[in-house]
Amino acid sequence: MNSAATPIDLRSDTVTRPSDAMRAAMAAAPVGDDQYGEDPSTNRLQARVAELLGKEAALWLPSGTMGNQVALLVLTQRGDEVIASRESHAAWHEVGGAAANAGVQIVEIGQGGVFGVDELEAAIKPSGLPVFPRTTLLEIENTHNRAGGIVVPQPLVVDLCATAKAQGLSTFLDGARLWNAHVASGVALHEMAAPFDLVSVAFSKGLGAPGGSVLAGRRELIASADRHRRRLGGAMRQNGIFSAAALHGLDHHLARLADDHAHARLLAERLAAATPVTLDLSTVQSNIVIFQLPPTLPDAATVVKRARAQGVLISAFGPRTVRAVTHLDVSRAQCEHAAQVLVELLSR
Ligand SMILES: *Cc1c(COP(=O)(O)O)cnc(C)c1O
Repeated sequence: MNSAATPIDLRSDTVTRPSDAMRAAMAAAPVGDDQYGEDPSTNRLQARVAELLGKEAALWLPSGTMGNQVALLVLTQRGDEVIASRESHAAWHEVGGAAANAGVQIVEIGQGGVFGVDELEAAIKPSGLPVFPRTTLLEIENTHNRAGGIVVPQPLVVDLCATAKAQGLSTFLDGARLWNAHVASGVALHEMAAPFDLVSVAFSKGLGAPGGSVLAGRRELIASADRHRRRLGGAMRQNGIFSAAALHGLDHHLARLADDHAHARLLAERLAAATPVTLDLSTVQSNIVIFQLPPTLPDAATVVKRARAQGVLISAFGPRTVRAVTHLDVSRAQCEHAAQVLVELLSR
């Protein structure tokens, strides 16, 4: 165990492989042609997620990125402006999809994954001048990946969405890791989803499924999302095999996200206590640990390479920024071992 041959993979919570029980659920899934609305497993998943999020309807999509693209296509028009948190997935991790697919520009505001009502109000372009783009959408990412998996405080979410609505903006929640936000904060899923027109959730991260995301919202918005999904080539056939994995993840891997959060905490506290890295423990609220390497240490690429040689996989998130993510395929003992390896590597 813990040799370089069987590395401890902390690069992302997307690296999880379906467990034997999940594979059995997938193999046994009743399926049909989802483009005819005849896949029973997908219909079950969509109904379940709609209910969990307190929305009228829900739609399965192959990936979270497609969910985000479809949300933009449903809620904006070409040339519009979207307000999102700084370093949001939509702005940094979707290959410019907002511009390429929906024809919108993203304005990034705030710090550390959050921003205040005053910052939002300042960013909404006034409607008087004909040269300005129309600001039509507020997007919030929760948990916020590049800010270290922080949970956006629910009272702030409520205030931001109320401000957006009062100014005529639509609202979208990128909840790829909303499950983590729910478990970390104890706030009910439907309460976190309530202020938003559309909400996306993913099954390929902490819940351990091989793929699949769901968008939820009012019936007419989901009908529009379905047309855009088809147009992007995301309407599939017997995708109940994926939906069965998602249902299994909801049944068996949701509550255990608390373990991932405890493991991230363990790792972060060891690094903060025993190495010179810059790591704000207050940002370690779920399963992500992000830290900066001071000039006295090698750069991120070098640290990642040296950790790999010791059987620990982590990600370079910037020239001097490193990310480690805990998930259901790494045990507490493995996280303890990874912490020991990293502490030795970074305190030399
Ligand atoms: C991973 C992620 C996505 C995209 O999900 P994919 O299934 O990888 O396309 C979107 N938003 C956030 C915040 C994510 O972390």
